[in-house]
Amino acid sequence: ARRAALAGATGPGATSDGHRMPLLANIGGPADVAAAVEAGAEGVGLFRTEFLFLEDSARAPSVETQVAAYREVLEAFPRGRVVVRVLDAGADKPLDFLTPGDEPNPALGVRGLRSLLKHPEVLRDQLRALAQASAGLPVHLEVMAPMVADRADARAFAEACREAGLAAKFGVMVEVPSAALRARSILQEVGFLSLGTNDLAQYTFAADRQVGALSRLQNPWHPALLDLVAMSAEAAAADSKSCGVCGEAASDPLLACVLTGLGVTSLSMGAAAIPYVRAALAKHTLAQCERAAAAARATDSAEEARRAAQAVLSGE
Ligand code: PEP
Ligand code: MG
Repeated sequence: ARRAALAGATGPGATSDGHRMPLLANIGGPADVAAAVEAGAEGVGLFRTEFLFLEDSARAPSVETQVAAYREVLEAFPRGRVVVRVLDAGADKPLDFLTPGDEPNPALGVRGLRSLLKHPEVLRDQLRALAQASAGLPVHLEVMAPMVADRADARAFAEACREAGLAAKFGVMVEVPSAALRARSILQEVGFLSLGTNDLAQYTFAADRQVGALSRLQNPWHPALLDLVAMSAEAAAADSKSCGVCGEAASDPLLACVLTGLGVTSLSMGAAAIPYVRAALAKHTLAQCERAAAAARATDSAEEARRAAQAVLSGE
């Protein structure tokens, strides 16, 4: 009831002047689907598939097990969009059969797509399971790879998707600064981008996301991060492709307005944040969001950026 009482708390995401901003849910498995549907998510912008693999860290789950889990999620969003991220093992999510145990810097090590390219059978089985799970469903399935650094990574992932006979659209996460810097070349290989601002912040500021003492350097409001978001969104727009945000940044209502102003095309977040972000967007025009974004980028710190955006959005 409290959520329903929020202004503009139902319906699709949009600014007050009707610029559409699809609001999608981040989910970690079928158990999160009900909350996403209840919050009015227009689909899933990040389905983290690690849960399936963490149950038994010695081997990958069978294709059949994967098909059942994926189908449960895909069936919940009949005509919606569901973006599935292939396994992101390593660093904070180590798996015995994939992750080297002796890395000096696991966050800079063999993780995400890097692990999958070393174990192509794991990627192949996951992509085949997704192809089977989506067969015959009206869902708009999109599949993306984590920890993509450059065009060669994007090409390797695209080839694996084609070889697995996946009819879905495939894309990559932008969570390594090199991918944002070279977004234009990466888009020669794939159909969309999705900004993982948690890792993008970690790698931009060289501050481990698991080290609490570095929290000052993990703030997505920092103009350095906003610049990388803008760069990625501009590259996607120039190619008529989408560039969403699926990191924690999307769940901050004020920052969601700034991200909209920077040109991102969808926002994906934990279900609980969706009504608040929807309400914030509904209060401002796209032009106001763009002015807030420009004001934030003109500052030199996360704190100043937030204050500048706040001033623009509350002063009008
Ligand atoms: C991110 O890095 O922003 C992201 C969405 O992925 P994860 O948090 O699962 O690493
Ligand atoms: Mg990440």
